Amino acid sequence: MPIELPPLPYADDALDPHISERTISFHYGKHHASYVKNLNGLIEGTDLADASLEDIVRTAEPGGLFNNAAQVWNHTFYWNSMSPEGGGDPSGELAAAIEASFGSVDDFKQQFKDDATGNFGSGWTWLVRDGDGLAIVKTDDADTPLAHGQTALLTIDVWEHAYYLDYQNARPAYVDTFIEHLLNWNFAAANLTASTGV
Ligand code: MN
Repeated sequence: MPIELPPLPYADDALDPHISERTISFHYGKHHASYVKNLNGLIEGTDLADASLEDIVRTAEPGGLFNNAAQVWNHTFYWNSMSPEGGGDPSGELAAAIEASFGSVDDFKQQFKDDATGNFGSGWTWLVRDGDGLAIVKTDDADTPLAHGQTALLTIDVWEHAYYLDYQNARPAYVDTFIEHLLNWNFAAANLTASTGV
């Protein structure tokens, strides 16, 4: 079974004006779609042709297969990490876990912003569950917490293609907008609940 490009969880223009329909048309319609196409070209006719995307990401050696598989997974996770009704603050178990690991929600937001803004070159910033606590981790290029035994809760894509059409070189403005207007706390909370089995 080929790996499929999942539908976006909202309309192409739903994140406008924070992320434009034009950015989505390239980022989802071209970049994400290309990773899916490339991955299927690499696994077709091999013993990975029926493997799950997660298994490919967890087992692939560094190189083209890993890069394309991880970018397919990362981008689907990124679309779900945003919502037209996003932003605000977390609540419940997730808020408590963030306060326990970072001191406060505001401290978390500042550390997440610093990490995402400071990631040199192309990559991702993630909130993950690592053991009993939460952590912010930065990955380069296609790398992903899924390959390192961590449970991803949310992510921001800081490759330039994620923001350049809307923000040009102003990555801090893109990161601020993501945190204040787009961040899907409900998705992060659901991932935390699923990972702890509560
Ligand atoms: Mn991207």
